[in-house]
Amino acid sequence: MSNLLANAGVPAFKCPPGTKMHLLDLGTLTVDEGWLMRGANSSSLSNKNPENKQRDLVVLAALIEHPQAGLILYETGCAEDLEVKWGAPITDLFPRTQYKECNRLPDAIKATGNDIKDVKAIIIGHLHLDHAGGLEHFLDSGVPIYVHEEEFKHACWAVATKADFGVYVYHYMDLERLNWKTFPDSTLDLFQGITLHHSPGHTPGLCIMQVNLEKDGTFIWTTDQFHIKENYELAEPHGWLARDHNAWIRSLGMIQRLQRLFNATLIFGHDKEVADELTKVKKYME
Ligand SMILES: [Zn+2]
Repeated sequence: MSNLLANAGVPAFKCPPGTKMHLLDLGTLTVDEGWLMRGANSSSLSNKNPENKQRDLVVLAALIEHPQAGLILYETGCAEDLEVKWGAPITDLFPRTQYKECNRLPDAIKATGNDIKDVKAIIIGHLHLDHAGGLEHFLDSGVPIYVHEEEFKHACWAVATKADFGVYVYHYMDLERLNWKTFPDSTLDLFQGITLHHSPGHTPGLCIMQVNLEKDGTFIWTTDQFHIKENYELAEPHGWLARDHNAWIRSLGMIQRLQRLFNATLIFGHDKEVADELTKVKKYME
């Protein structure tokens, strides 16, 4: 099926020749597995005090060199200064345990041979603090930030009323100095070969990104619809980070169908092993 589609001659189907896609490693957070998988670390009659297993989560972003659209960034990682921008208790619950110079967003982009100043478009999968914090680098830059309308509205509400404060925070929800561009579509072909799919559940406006590459095939960046591969492969819902369970299940089905249709490789929001496997094989995808 994927071969049929690839050769079908649909103009917008594949990224133009010469497109390169990089995975950016923006550091590591270490968290209790109870956040990530339903029932993980929970006590029981036979095991009243189970070990509280923790998990290392890579903070990821995608940088795409697109011959037509220029440099595109999918998600931006955390703020530089977490002590100030997050503070306690967030830094205690979601501590950043690895953050070297090479993990800073400008340095990670530089390592690909590009400059953060040349980013032409930003796509935000969802506006949680470990995905949108890096927007601080784009204040007053005029760079358009594409995000689903439902996500933008929800983030404003969640921060302003503190209804879901902690996963959304103030510092990057700047209404004056950032150039927000929202869209209401359930599927949006934003640039040639790059399609966003609305996947509500973890958050109301979360969008995954499908990238169809000429040589390496289709990739789906799931952001935190799936934090780790178990969320997808075992259909294991999130733990304390779950929000709308039924919507999440429907989005899971949509992504399973998409994966099958395009024979896609999935890149999960924070799965270190999956990201390492991909970057071990190739410096970038094309
Ligand atoms: Zn996350």
